[in-house]
Amino acid sequence: MNLQDRTCVVTGSSRGIGRGIAEDLGAHGANVVVNYRSSEGEAHEVVDAIEEDGGTAIAVQADVCDEDEVEAMADRVADAFGGTDVLVNNAGITVDKKFENMSREDWDQVMDVNLGGVYNCTHAFFDDLKDADHGRLINISSVVGQQGNYGQANYATTKSGLFGFTRTVALELARHNTTANCVSPGFVKTDMLEKVPERVQEKILSRIPLDRFATVEDISGIVRFVASEESAYMTGQILGVNGGMEW
Ligand code: NAP
Repeated sequence: MNLQDRTCVVTGSSRGIGRGIAEDLGAHGANVVVNYRSSEGEAHEVVDAIEEDGGTAIAVQADVCDEDEVEAMADRVADAFGGTDVLVNNAGITVDKKFENMSREDWDQVMDVNLGGVYNCTHAFFDDLKDADHGRLINISSVVGQQGNYGQANYATTKSGLFGFTRTVALELARHNTTANCVSPGFVKTDMLEKVPERVQEKILSRIPLDRFATVEDISGIVRFVASEESAYMTGQILGVNGGMEW
């Protein structure tokens, strides 16, 4: 799965799963764009790690909710590397509350990042993905979008929304030989999971047949496969990477 000279944009890759994906793609030859909103120092650490490993990367600040910032990121990427071959829509947030306590602001905040951000980024890079030789759109969803999860009505809605989006865009991109797929992780040990109370984490763990939370490497290897030429005949799919959880 060689990604030599393929340009891959990974949104929200200063930390967590995005960081793991960026470093893995960089280690396999890709030119990586490490996007972040506010964690500038961490984004530069990711770039340094990729370069120390012999790869090529740049860090680009853009809040995915902001159309102008995302357009500016696309221009920056075009200047640095020419077209983009792979877009990984990874940036995502949670604002967890029982639905009865969830304000419209809590709802909108999660919609803005997890779906608005996907709109902005996919739109800004769409022509590149069409023009690419086997372009790839990869949306990071969640098992929560498949199962639902207590206290996450806003988040679950955005993550299942990605399924309809991905399947539709897959149809529209197919004639350009570009694919669109969702990678749908289970529960992964990152800052996002750290926010979940310990007793709730224990309950979640008891529902995972493989009896452990995912590592970022469990997810990044699958994303690398989807980004590669080897996945050429797979489009519009949801790849569950969840330790065997039912949905
Ligand atoms: P994380 O550790 O909280 O990291 C989130 C990343 O997204 C950070 O790099 C953050 O950058 C960036 N980000 C947030 N809002 C942004 C915005 N508006 N514009 C640009 N970047 C933004 O999260 P994670 O656990 O790695 O999750 C990554 C993705 O995987 C999310 O889509 C999440 O829904 C999904 N996922 C996670 C899990 C899990 O258990 N962790 C499970 C299934 C799916 P800044 O620090 O600069 O804001």
